[in-house]
Amino acid sequence: MIGLLSDIHGNLEALEAVFRDGQRKNIHRWICLGDIVGYGPNPSECIQLVRNYCEIIVLGNHDEACGLTSEVDEFNKIARHSILWTRTRLKENERDWLRKLPLFEIDHNRMYVHASPRKPHLWNYIFTETEAQRQIAFYPPDVKFCFIGHTHESFHFVSEEGSELINVGSVGQPRDYDSRACFAIFDENLGQVVFQRVEYDIKSTQKKIIDYGLPRFLAERLMYGN
Ligand code: ZN
Repeated sequence: MIGLLSDIHGNLEALEAVFRDGQRKNIHRWICLGDIVGYGPNPSECIQLVRNYCEIIVLGNHDEACGLTSEVDEFNKIARHSILWTRTRLKENERDWLRKLPLFEIDHNRMYVHASPRKPHLWNYIFTETEAQRQIAFYPPDVKFCFIGHTHESFHFVSEEGSELINVGSVGQPRDYDSRACFAIFDENLGQVVFQRVEYDIKSTQKKIIDYGLPRFLAERLMYGN
């Protein structure tokens, strides 16, 4: 069993809850699809845990922005605020590590990428079946399953030809009106994907967001899962 997680966004309580849950479900490999940091109050701690647990880790747009020192114009005001704050909290070696993460990885018949298999560096969002179908045309040869994150909403599309695009949802900031942390389990033998939801101590995360002076909205949205 492989555990797939994405969009942790510095939410340590959610990440710990996911790893605990995965342990009970016999997950022997973990894969991280990016956005370990940004928004949440514990970027360093999340980097450390992900490095300890995950065999494959790919770059997210927030990881890239927090690793760099350049302008962050492409993000909205709240994201920008949290990216600048996160930069001050990370050690230079952590930012260096973020910058060097690969944009995608291919392993057996599976591809792992944060946003989209086609032009991953553009950070496009895949919300619809039409877009999912279009993306499948750009799978590298021999890839049947592509696992992504980025929208913070779980999604599973199977094409008529049998290729699959799976968005594993978000650990640390779900936006599908379910406040519980989300991740996915992939059974390599059956080729099956199951989404998991895990309760965690949202109040602790919210308190830290407010205590650290991060935008209040980032605390509030966790409660509603949006
Ligand atoms: Zn994200």
